[in-house]
Amino acid sequence: MIDNSKLPIVRGQYKFDSRVPNWFDLEGRAEVLFKPKDLEDLSTFLKNVDTKIKIQLIGAGSNVIISDQGISGILIKLSSDFAKIRHDDSTITIGGASLCQTVAQYCHNYGLGGLEFLSGIPGTIGGAIAMNAGCYGSEISNNLIKAKALDFEGNSLEINNSDFGFFYRGNNLAKKYIFIEGVFSINLTDKILVREKINQLQIQRESSQPIRAKTGGSTFKNPPQKKAWELIDAIGFRGKKLGDAQFSSKHCNFLINIGKAKSDDLLNLGNEAKKQIHEKFGIDLEWEIKELK
Ligand SMILES: Cc1cc2nc3c(=O)[nH]c(=O)nc-3n(C[C@H](O)[C@H](O)[C@H](O)COP(=O)(O)OP(=O)(O)OC[C@H]3O[C@@H](n4cnc5c(N)ncnc54)[C@H](O)[C@@H]3O)c2cc1C
Repeated sequence: MIDNSKLPIVRGQYKFDSRVPNWFDLEGRAEVLFKPKDLEDLSTFLKNVDTKIKIQLIGAGSNVIISDQGISGILIKLSSDFAKIRHDDSTITIGGASLCQTVAQYCHNYGLGGLEFLSGIPGTIGGAIAMNAGCYGSEISNNLIKAKALDFEGNSLEINNSDFGFFYRGNNLAKKYIFIEGVFSINLTDKILVREKINQLQIQRESSQPIRAKTGGSTFKNPPQKKAWELIDAIGFRGKKLGDAQFSSKHCNFLINIGKAKSDDLLNLGNEAKKQIHEKFGIDLEWEIKELK
């Protein structure tokens, strides 16, 4: 248990025993949710907080299962001060709290090509860097030049793309960095072309994914041998339910909350699929969704 009176004095906001907005609409609460006012506030907090307290990050909560037992320690959510965007002729600099969809809209407004794929990803740029988010053949690591980060001791650093050790939906950095800002390459183009590409991607996505459901996107990473959805389908788990958790009938690598699902329902249903796929095909699926607890 955190002694609240010993938390560093900040200009931002602490919320205690706080509900955490998340795409699955799960009700687990954070022991302390901290929204720093700005970069200096975040750095001061990190330099002064007791190093024994667990620190975790949340962006838009679009790739996480929040434990019903709650999230211990301090959960940091970047405030709107971290959501600034600017660009020049070859790069765009995007704050970690900016929503990917806002970035895609910005790119359309200014005729910037290269990041159209962000239009369908409902997370923040910080979360997208952490996850090496991507779709339809594009991913963050293709365009990211460098990121500005703070480590959990409050030190500021720049991390070049080549130092991330990016791989499919992740990176090899220690889990102690907060991505504050990313600098990405873009190409100047016609805004109509940007809009056309975004529209095409949206049509493709709407036809195949339950994008209006309470979900966390793809549940498992695709293994090299087959698509995760094909394996889930092959064990008969398309539409399979446990409590109010269900593998979507539309795209069966999406777990959805069809009512008042518990985090354990989602985790147990996912783990049962993993087990049966291992038994039937000898393939070990890896969770793409992260559990916050
Ligand atoms: C309908 C739907 C469709 C989706 N489609 C796609 C898709 O096409 N492609 C894809 O890749 N993903 C997809 N996702 C998953 C998700 O949107 C992405 O993984 C996204 O990048 C997560 O961003 P977030 O801000 O929501 O991160 P969160 O879900 O809040 O967090 C994800 C991870 O990132 C860490 N994190 C968050 N912010 C920071 C930060 N600033 N610094 C350091 N670490 C941080 C968290 O600690 C956590 O480990 C989809 C999700 C949904 C609900």
